[in-house]
Amino acid sequence: MSETNSFCSGKSCRSRVADGLDPRSIAPGATICNACCDAMVRDLIALPDLHEECAEFLSSARSSRERTSGGPLPGMPFNATVADVRYTIRSVLGAWCGLIVDERGLPHPGRCVQERAEFLRENIDWLARHSAAAEATNEISRLVRDARRMIDPNPPRRFAVGSCSVPRCSGTLIAVLGARDTLAAAEVMCDHDSGHRWSATTWLKERSSGSRNGGRWLSSSEISYAWQVPTGSVYRLASENKWRRKTASGRKYYYSMDVERTLKTVGRTSR
Ligand SMILES: [Zn+2]
Ligand SMILES: [Zn+2]
Repeated sequence: MSETNSFCSGKSCRSRVADGLDPRSIAPGATICNACCDAMVRDLIALPDLHEECAEFLSSARSSRERTSGGPLPGMPFNATVADVRYTIRSVLGAWCGLIVDERGLPHPGRCVQERAEFLRENIDWLARHSAAAEATNEISRLVRDARRMIDPNPPRRFAVGSCSVPRCSGTLIAVLGARDTLAAAEVMCDHDSGHRWSATTWLKERSSGSRNGGRWLSSSEISYAWQVPTGSVYRLASENKWRRKTASGRKYYYSMDVERTLKTVGRTSR
């Protein structure tokens, strides 16, 4: 493969770029980084159960006509979209298995989702070096996302909040808000090492006080997340209270000490 392609374009790295972070670099000979490969393994572990849960949901939806919304395709009957998601899980996994079978000369795995997902995991090191590996991470993660969307209309919200603060870790920190967006239940976790995780409050305290010069620059989504303020209110509070701000890569950042001073006095209920 070419020397120039040294940055990963796997799913997790694309999300990093969308959040204004750099993609991770990849080891010589690899096509995606370890974090994207690990994320794909986690998706493959999750998919057989999700496929099954979609089936259970489908039968319960048939018996009660109450749940008719939530599908990704406007105008389509809900049951049809759940069935589509199940069909797509099987066929997308089947297509990636087919590529491995053809190019490695291996016997076909069984036809069920469990067998296909296991086969892909057995061949994951080979797949991670294939020129189509980044596309595999994207397609497989989309299957997980669509299945979760079907069975849980209020899935936990996740978004990247920055690079992992553990020295030499290349992970991205992901904030995970529960279905009701309560800060008490929220966690910040590293997508590269599951041992790097903190409660949202601990992480934020360390982050706000961690800088030697007294303050840090926080994005509006971080502020919204940490103080449970709608993003729209962040902009209003910033202008009303004249928070120091800077713009980097098209995103606005606010000075943490200004933010803290305002939000301490605003109180938790009056936003
Ligand atoms: Zn990557
Ligand atoms: Zn980490």
